[in-house]
Amino acid sequence: MHESCGVVGIYAPNEDVARLTFFAQFALQHRGQESAGIATTDGKRLQVHAEMGLVSQVFDEDSLSRLTGNMAIGHNRYSTRGSSRKSNVQPIVVGKGSGAMAIAHNGNIVNAEHLYQELSEEGFTFHSSTDSEVIANLIISSHERDWVDKIRYAMHRLQGAYSLTLLTTDRLFGVRDPLGVRPLCLGTIDGGWVIASESCALDHIGADFVREIEPGEIVSISNNGVESYREEVGRRALCIFEYIYFARPDTTINGRLLYPARQAMGEGLAVEHPVDADLVMGVPDSATAAGVGYAHQSGIHLAEGLIKNRYVGRTFIEPQQRIRDLGVKLKFNPLPQVLAGKRVVLVDDSIVRGTTTPKVIALLRKAGAKEVHVRICAPPIRYPCFFGVDMATRWELIAAQKTVPEIRDFIGADSLGYLSVDGLIKAVALPRDIFCLACFTGDYPVPVQIEMDKLALESITVGHQAAFDMERR
Ligand code: SF4
Repeated sequence: MHESCGVVGIYAPNEDVARLTFFAQFALQHRGQESAGIATTDGKRLQVHAEMGLVSQVFDEDSLSRLTGNMAIGHNRYSTRGSSRKSNVQPIVVGKGSGAMAIAHNGNIVNAEHLYQELSEEGFTFHSSTDSEVIANLIISSHERDWVDKIRYAMHRLQGAYSLTLLTTDRLFGVRDPLGVRPLCLGTIDGGWVIASESCALDHIGADFVREIEPGEIVSISNNGVESYREEVGRRALCIFEYIYFARPDTTINGRLLYPARQAMGEGLAVEHPVDADLVMGVPDSATAAGVGYAHQSGIHLAEGLIKNRYVGRTFIEPQQRIRDLGVKLKFNPLPQVLAGKRVVLVDDSIVRGTTTPKVIALLRKAGAKEVHVRICAPPIRYPCFFGVDMATRWELIAAQKTVPEIRDFIGADSLGYLSVDGLIKAVALPRDIFCLACFTGDYPVPVQIEMDKLALESITVGHQAAFDMERR
């Protein structure tokens, strides 16, 4: 299961802005490994370098030195099935001359198909299959003169998730949708400003965190300083998976550092699903903190039973299922010396299709584990995500098709326990009503999605994809 895309925006006079952006993207590599790109402005024109591959593969001294100027945006992309292609790399540039704009997008637009058709009829041409290009063309299609008004126009038309960084020839923008599905934060760096998907990107480039960009907010940065414009917001819907899995454990969102939040999930699992065992281990790296929490709460010894090959990279593993299956072996190596004859509690972040967990359990058993008790931080995922998480169609979600005991048998565990929704909220320690929990509850925060849900929950993802190839990002 993957989220998709990390975005960055930097305004830093007298700095090598492209290089700073490169390092910020490096810190956000976990949010997308398929392509990377940077756009800069020298005040008169936009320059872009974007390619398929990891940040370190896409950029070198030569490409960075050609990206001149004092403002930049950057993008790391994760693609869904069937949309892995060069034409979809970001930032995407639309418009010309002083009307040109580059966009970097994290999220998914649920009414993209409708807007795509409308803009096509107006004569806008599309060079990618991304909903990000729909957003970009929608902004420049506005007859308003000022960029903020153009962005506002687009925000009133868009439905769904979008955390954006936008670059014109003389302004940088950070934009977050009114639901606030994806995170976006603001920092300062030596008289300049940084916008990033996660606060860990600020830390790595020596920037100081200032605040979150609020749901429904447009932040404008230029030589005139920083200005903020806010749209009216109703319900909030921050994706709870940012806390469970997507964001790095050293990121802070809504004032809550993720590492202790994940530890608390493990503690909650130990309370809700205790078991007699010899050792506890979290699946590295996403469930490492939860494993620590389970061990702390239960008093069971914490151990490392799986060593992760951190340098395997995910570029060549994703997005095909067959190659992903191989990826488990490529990724983890069990330690028989730790596992042999032991009753193991295996803590993981989530079970989506149920294809990976049996392979991890099989690795542990082959290494000698006597019992494997699986504990999962995310409650059972029974509904698909329409907000850009490459999860599965409903019929692919194992918890939508099987009961917990059936899943336990399917994955080959001795016992299986999921954290409850209440337990998850308690661990995150933030108000429940700021979150999207739709993949657990089916309560989608956008009305159109409920309609979609009623009409075609079983097949909408595949049908939508085939009909339009407007990828979920
Ligand atoms: S449906 Fe689930 S994965 Fe999608 S945004 Fe909501 S909480 Fe996140």
